[in-house]
Amino acid sequence: EVYRRAQYTGSAAQLDQLPADTGIEVAFAGRSNAGKSSAINTITQINGLARISKTPGRTQMINFFTLDETRALVDLPGYGFAKVPEKMKLQWQATLGKYLESRQSLKGLVLMMDCRHPMKEFDLQILLWAKAAALPLHILLTKSDKLSRGAGNGVLQKVRQQLQRTDIPATVQLFSSLNKSGRDQAISQLDEWFNL
Ligand code: GDP
Repeated sequence: EVYRRAQYTGSAAQLDQLPADTGIEVAFAGRSNAGKSSAINTITQINGLARISKTPGRTQMINFFTLDETRALVDLPGYGFAKVPEKMKLQWQATLGKYLESRQSLKGLVLMMDCRHPMKEFDLQILLWAKAAALPLHILLTKSDKLSRGAGNGVLQKVRQQLQRTDIPATVQLFSSLNKSGRDQAISQLDEWFNL
């Protein structure tokens, strides 16, 4: 499995610091605390891999983890932190929007949302940017271990309906880093985007 070979190769604070726009990238986005770092660690089975990205309030970075010469996972800065100054928030939103719109090597976006708090305001914004850029989308409803099976399926259905209503073409699944459920399904999606 190529994901286990993920290696941190650098960070960009601005778009002009990104590595060459070649190969295939899949990016991970989500509100702070949605479980993005844990999901990246679960997918790669490397503990602590995504920790680099975690310092709220400071300059946020786009972090790159290469899998091989042509494939990389991209950890986008978490959003939704109340304490971040408004000006910085807007700056980052603009950077994120531009990255999603213009990055040629970006072949898919995984959006993580806590299954107990799905579809918050900026989540929808990201989904709409991705749609506008015709960027394939996959949603992980994280921390599914916090809900009963029935409640989890209820959320799944509700989010699917909401996506349909807003005409956003995304696939959705439940995911838990705690008990690793949903990992296989997530990997299948990544494999497809990475041509594996
Ligand atoms: P990030 O800010 O999106 O990178 O979120 P983290 O991965 O750091 O997770 C935020 C918090 O949620 C931490 O306290 C994690 O231990 C917890 N967490 C993450 N994933 C899960 C999960 O699958 N189940 C449960 N119960 N807690 C989780």
